[in-house]
Amino acid sequence: MTAKIIDGKAFAAGLRLRVAEHVERLKSEHGITPGLAVIIVGHDPASQVYVNSKAKQTQEVGMNSFKYELAEDVPEQEVLDLIESLNQREDVHGILCQLPVPKHIDENKIIEALSPAKDVDCFNPSNVGKVAIGLPGPVPCTPLGSLMLLRDELGDLSGKNAVVVGRSNLVGKPMAALLLRDSATVTVAHSRTKDLAAICAAADIVVAAVGRPQMIKKDWIKPGATVIDVGINRIDAPERGEGKTRLVGDVDYSGVSEVAGAITPVPGGVGPMTIACLLANTITTTCLANGIEPPSDLTA
Ligand code: NDP
Repeated sequence: MTAKIIDGKAFAAGLRLRVAEHVERLKSEHGITPGLAVIIVGHDPASQVYVNSKAKQTQEVGMNSFKYELAEDVPEQEVLDLIESLNQREDVHGILCQLPVPKHIDENKIIEALSPAKDVDCFNPSNVGKVAIGLPGPVPCTPLGSLMLLRDELGDLSGKNAVVVGRSNLVGKPMAALLLRDSATVTVAHSRTKDLAAICAAADIVVAAVGRPQMIKKDWIKPGATVIDVGINRIDAPERGEGKTRLVGDVDYSGVSEVAGAITPVPGGVGPMTIACLLANTITTTCLANGIEPPSDLTA
C-alpha cells in the first residue's frame, strides 16, 4: 500500500479562503474588521520569518495587522504595558507574542498578561480549560490544524483508536483533548511509555509530536492507519551538498508511507495549518467579543 498524502498546504489555502469570507461578512454585516496584533522581541531570524509570514497572511485575508518590534533589551514592564494597551483596544481582537522571548522576560508573565479573550495562540490556562470541557474560544493552533486534517480525511473520528505521541502543553495535551471531544479512544504516550511500538501498532490514528527526527517507524504502524506528523526537525543532508540540511518530521516518512492509509508530509503537512488556524482563531475571538456566534467551520 502507498499512503495517500494529506496535503496540508492545499487545505490551509482553502481554510484561509474561508477565513477571508468570514472577514468579509464581519465587515459587511457588522462593520467589524478583525485585527491581529503580533509582538516580537529581539532579532531572532527564525522568529522574524514567522512573524512576517503571519503579518502577510493576516493582511491577505482582509484583517488588520498590527506589528510591534521591540528591542532585544526592552524592559519586561514595557512589554507588559504594551500588552495591556492592546488588551484595551477595540480594533485588536487577537494578540500574540512570538516565543521564545529573551531570557530577562518571564514567558509566563506574558501569557498571563494577555487577555484570554484575545489569546489567539490559546496559551492562557482559562482557554486551555475551555478546550478541555468544550466551551467556545480559541483552540491551540497546531492541534486544531491537525484535527481539521483528520476530520477531512476520516470524517467521523468517533470510536477510532488514536495515539498521541508527546504530551507537551503546546501540542500533545490539547491534541488529546480535541480527539477525546470527537469521541476517539485516546492514548497519550511520552518518554516514559513502555513498548511504544506496540501501542502505536494498535492505532487507527497516530499523531506524532515528539521532536525526534524520523523516530516512528514502518513496523509501528497498522496497515491503513492515518498518520499526522507534527514534528519539524532539521537534519544534515550531505546528499544536497556540504553543510546542507533538510526538514523531516517525527515519522520515518518513506517507510511509514508504505503501510499507512494516509500521511502528512513534512514540510507541507501540519506546518501550513498552524498560521491558518491562528487566523481562524482570530475570527472566533472577534465573534465572541461582539456577541456573534463563531463560525463552526473554523473551530474544533
Ligand atoms: P516538546 O519537546 O515540548 O514535547 C515533546 C514530547 O515528546 C514530550 O511529551 C516528551 O515526553 C515526548 N518524547 C520525547 N522523546 C520521546 C520518546 N523517545 N518516546 C516517546 N515520547 C517522547 O515538543 P513540542 O510538543 O513543542 O513539539 C513536538 C514537535 O512538533 C517538535 O518537532 C516541534 O518542532 C513540532 N512542532 C510543530 C509545529 C507545527 O506548526 N507543525 C508547532 C509546534 C511544534 P516527556 O513529556 O515524557 O518528556
